[in-house]
Amino acid sequence: MKVTEHLKKAKSTLFSIEILPPLRGKSIQSIFECIDPLMEFKPPFIDVTYHREEYIYKKKEGGYLEKISIRKRPGTVGICAAIINRYKTDAVPHIICGGFSKHETENALIDLQFLGIDNILAIRGDAIKSEAAFIPEPDGHGYAIDLIKQIVHMNKGKYLDDELQDATPVSFCIGVAGYPEKHFEAPNIKSDMKHLKAKIDAGSDYIVTQMFFDNQKYFDFVKKCREMHINVPVIPGLKPITTKKQAAILPKTFHIDIPEDLLEEVEKCKTDKDVREVGIEWCIQQSRELKKFGVPCLHYYTMGSAENTRRIASKIF
Ligand code: FAD
Repeated sequence: MKVTEHLKKAKSTLFSIEILPPLRGKSIQSIFECIDPLMEFKPPFIDVTYHREEYIYKKKEGGYLEKISIRKRPGTVGICAAIINRYKTDAVPHIICGGFSKHETENALIDLQFLGIDNILAIRGDAIKSEAAFIPEPDGHGYAIDLIKQIVHMNKGKYLDDELQDATPVSFCIGVAGYPEKHFEAPNIKSDMKHLKAKIDAGSDYIVTQMFFDNQKYFDFVKKCREMHINVPVIPGLKPITTKKQAAILPKTFHIDIPEDLLEEVEKCKTDKDVREVGIEWCIQQSRELKKFGVPCLHYYTMGSAENTRRIASKIF
């Protein structure tokens, strides 16, 4: 079932999660161990992130370095199929532009459709770690909107080969990323919102936000969306801070602010165990306020750990 159908059917705020595929060489059991304890909150859909290739350098004889391309977290599509099979719940694979030609994207979309997957979160992806800026494949997409257009075309039965006769339309519900605190590459919020609107006008169905720690940022973002006639559901993405290190890393990685009050509380903590308590309580308060505001769904970035999300969800759902 499509995410938008779940949202329409819901009588109150839904619970959903995002999980990461395990590191290469690890078993899918770690995914089940993350999802099992959260099933009591009945997530109607579970997002699975996509991780593109990275370059590593291996020392060779004679002191040479060999550049190797490796995907450290493969398995997005397989995990989606396993989720549907094991939990009878919908899975939302993240599909990115980076590393894909248009033909590879088309093939991936065909696989997803054949697996009975009805939803896609369509995103551009970041630059490869060793590269300064995002570089699309020679025959790939430069921005999420181009990927969205390809999915919308396939939803209408238009494949890349326009000589295909009677091609079967696919039927994907399309989610996109939104940034209450602006995407870091955008010169200003107005420009970022303009590009977000273009993604919706191209045929996307809902927005999932980057994590934020100040609900006012989300409220302002939704207001801006509505003023620009972006009328699709805006699902807030949340994550608790659980270590002091995270308080320093999250702003750098995700280009978001940590509110002064939260940072002061974190700085007072003597151990990461204390930080975790502060972070979980903060996220519970955020969730309560957002639920009261009437958000369609609270979407938690588990980052591979169920326990923090379970403690938060048990106070909200
Ligand atoms: P876009 O919408 O293409 O925007 C990228 C930038 O370009 C923005 O600054 C935008 O304002 C600008 N822009 C957009 N269109 C145009 C245009 N036509 N001309 C000029 N400028 C333009 N990354 C992963 O690798 N895997 C994941 O699984 C993943 N999941 C995510 C889930 C969520 C909910 C979020 C919020 C992010 C996720 N990301 C993931 C990160 C995401 O890939 C990065 O933030 C990426 O840098 C931007 O992706 P996007 O889809 O927002 O890009």
